[in-house]
Parts: sequence; structure tokens; C-alpha cells
Amino acid sequence: MKAQRADHPMDFREGLLFERGARGRVGYVLEASDLESEALPALPAELVRQDIPGMPELSEIDVIRHFTRLSRWNYCIDHGLYPLGSCTMKYNPRLHELVARRPRMALAHPYQPEALSQGCLRLIHELEQFLARITGMDTLTLQPSAGAQGELTGMMIIRACLTQRGDPRSKVLIPDSAHGTNPSSAHLCNYQVVEIKSGADGRLHLEDLKARLGRDVAALMLTNPNTLGIFEQNIAEICALVHDAGGLVYCDGANMNALLGISRPGDMGCDVMHLNLHKTFTTPHGGGGPGSGPVAVKEFLRPFLPVPRVVKEGGRYRLAEEFPESIGRVRSFYGNFGMLVRAYAYILSMGAAGLKRVSENAVLNANYIKAGLRSVYQLAYDIDSMHEVIFTDQRQLKFGVKTLDIAKRLMDYGFHPPTIYFPLIAPGALMIEPTETEPRAELDRFIAAMKAIAAEAETDPELVQSAPRTTPVKRLDETRAARQPILRWTPD
Ligand SMILES: *Cc1c(COP(=O)(O)O)cnc(C)c1O
Repeated sequence: MKAQRADHPMDFREGLLFERGARGRVGYVLEASDLESEALPALPAELVRQDIPGMPELSEIDVIRHFTRLSRWNYCIDHGLYPLGSCTMKYNPRLHELVARRPRMALAHPYQPEALSQGCLRLIHELEQFLARITGMDTLTLQPSAGAQGELTGMMIIRACLTQRGDPRSKVLIPDSAHGTNPSSAHLCNYQVVEIKSGADGRLHLEDLKARLGRDVAALMLTNPNTLGIFEQNIAEICALVHDAGGLVYCDGANMNALLGISRPGDMGCDVMHLNLHKTFTTPHGGGGPGSGPVAVKEFLRPFLPVPRVVKEGGRYRLAEEFPESIGRVRSFYGNFGMLVRAYAYILSMGAAGLKRVSENAVLNANYIKAGLRSVYQLAYDIDSMHEVIFTDQRQLKFGVKTLDIAKRLMDYGFHPPTIYFPLIAPGALMIEPTETEPRAELDRFIAAMKAIAAEAETDPELVQSAPRTTPVKRLDETRAARQPILRWTPD
């Protein structure tokens, strides 16, 4: 298998339009005007230009091709594998996009009267029920706009519940492998974050948990499968321990695409969890939004869910606000409705059997990459992987080649790099999540490229260290824009 794509998805040899023009080329020829010239107000002569200096003259196809080629500089899932671990960059079937863009969905206005919004409200209500069944939880809110906002909403619900019991408590336990949003959300909710070390196998251990548990612990925030792509095996005992200590269990469900139809966080004993519709349930993402982070809860937490809530009465749907214990509104209107439409269409088009195959294939694909690369890259944890796998640069370091070099070199091979240096507990991490939507041939191409880079690291480390070589800009100073931002444009 040749590692370099024959069809490298990006051709960066694109000049400026100004270099391309040729005298006399035209895009459009306008008909001569048949308006009387006296009908137009006379313009001052100095405002009427006969000529625009330096303006390139181009044909229509010159312009179309230029911008089409530039548009291809954006790597996207439609080009090829996008193995960003934890982000679940999978292919989103066009069908769901079409459904979401139907005018009756896309043009529905949030201020439309309830009588004219029955279809939209029904969709929200039914999606809540689908997601409750998929997660094993009892009810949920679709309002939060991201996983992180879902976490915050979930923590607010936990605080509201414990406050009602008479003691909101002060601490939240979070394993060291967690996504950075977990401690942020707990902190924003005024909890003190206590980190728990993962065991040598990447899992949370009962002994470590017991040592931290006490009457001051409000909740454990746990990701399952965790960000190392490893299933937390002791999850039932973990939940029982936290409950015995009077705390609640929050499950970060961002990795739900490994569990669909196979196991349910609700059955494991979790009390609150969020989902990322833009990861597991098709919404194109990666440009910073829009997203959707529904929060599912067990029955006893229902009173605290945000308002408004869609209720069904006598075959009609209504937006209800009358929940006195609710944490209130977390977002305008009722969430990113377009994302809800996509998720609804996705669940219906996949069906229960299809959703289960999603997770089986997500896990199979990650393990296929693991098997294909373990002879050349060091596994961070050599135990059963779920939907993502983590290698490190340990074997390449002795040739002076680091994770960053490997990631940059992948771009020369026509692939988007994986997530790097996360999770923090795996030094030099290369976190690869192929997702269920990749065909085997694409996985083989990726494996071949990674192997070729490992060989280059041994024989020609400078080549890898100086990557990328095929892109218009090479290595950027990745922190300068944050440290020395230029926020004002001054003409020179
Ligand atoms: C993506 C992710 C989040 C945060 O979700 P956003 O929608 O990006 O806010 C939280 N936890 C994990 C494990 C994730 O992968």
C-alpha cells in the first residue's frame, strides 16, 4: 500500500488572482443599457473611474477555479479521515442535513405561537424520549448548546438537589484523565475540584476513590469510556461507593458513540450525564459550533431541570415554565433546534440495530488501527480499547522525533493530524479516533502513512522534524497569537 495519496486532497500551488489576470479577459459582457442617460443623475466626473489600477482581468472560470481551489485548503471530513481523538469527527450523512434544512424546520421561528409549533415541539419531546432510552436515564433537557454547557447545567442540577437536601457539599472528584471542561464546570459551580489519579491501567481504582470520598463530596465526574478510550470496568461499584457517601455520579457522555445499544450509563448507576449531539448524533462540527449538549437525569432530579420544558397534554404539546425547583433558563428559547432535528433524523434513519452497529464499528475501527500500528508506535496503555487508541512518541524520541513532528508530517501525507498531547497523563500522546464512518481502505492508507513516518523517523529524522513541507505555511508559533494579539488594524 502506497502511503502517499495519489489524490493528495490539497493542492497548495495557487497564485493570487492579481498574478493570474491577462489583458482583455472578461467575466461578463453586460448588455448595453437602454435607459436614457438623462434619466440618471449626473455624477461628478472625479467620482467616475474609467480604469481601476492593478485590477486583474479574468474570465468567469478563472475566478470560479481560483476560489474552488482555495476552498479545498480547508481539510474536512469530506476530504478524508479526520482522526482527532475525543472529538468524534465522523461523516454526517447528507440526509439529516436535508431534513434540517427543510423550510418548515429551518424557518420555524421561536416566537411562533404554540399552535403553529406543534410539529417542532413534538420533535423535541420525542427526541427526549429516544435519548432517555439510549442512555438508560429517565428524562432530559435538550437546551445546553455544547458538552461544556451540559456539564455546567448538570453540576447546577446536582447543587440544586443537594442544597434541597440541606447540604450542597463542597468538593467534586475528577480523574486526572478528564477533559478540561470537567474541572472548569465544577469550578464555575463553586465546587472545589479534587483530582484522582488513574491507575497504571488508565482506570479509576476503588481504593483511590475510597481514599477521597467523604461527606464533603458532592459528586464524582467520570467519563466512560474515559478519554484514554478505556471502559471503566468497576463502574457499578464506583457508583455504589459514591451513593453510599451521599454524593451523586455525573457521567461525561461525550464518548457515547462507543456504547450505543451496548450499555447504558443509566444502568451503570449514573445520576446525571450529558451527550454531545455534535459528536455522537451527527451534526457537522469543528468550526466552533453550533453544538448541542443535552443533559439526561434520573427521575429524582427531574424537578431541577431547566425551563422551559415541553409537556404533552391531551395530544397537544406545550412549553411549560411552572417548575419551582428548576435551575431556571440556561439558554435562550430551547436549544439549537437545527441540531435536534439532525439527531432526531439520525436516530430514526439508523434504527436501534443501526445505532448498535455504529458503536461496534467505532470500536472495531479503533482496534484495527491499534493492531496496525502497535509494532511501530508505543501504546500509552496496552489494554482493551474502545473507540479511540492512544500511542506515544516514546520509540521515535530516541531519533529526536516528537509527537508534534509526527502530527505535522501527516499533513504531507494528506491527513489531518490526530489530537496530540491529550490526555495529559499520557506524555507525548497521539490520540486517534477513526470513528465508525471510515472504510477499511482509508484506515489502511492512514496506517501506511503512520508507518512510513515511523520509518522516516529512523532513517531521516530531519525530514520529519522539518514537516510540513507541502503546506503554504510551515510551523507556526502556536502561542504567539494568544500572547501578543493584534486586535486593531492600523494601515501602514
Ligand atoms: C468534547 C468533550 C467535552 C466538551 O464538549 P464540547 O461540546 O466541546 O463543549 C467534554 N468531555 C469530553 C470527554 C469531550 O470529548
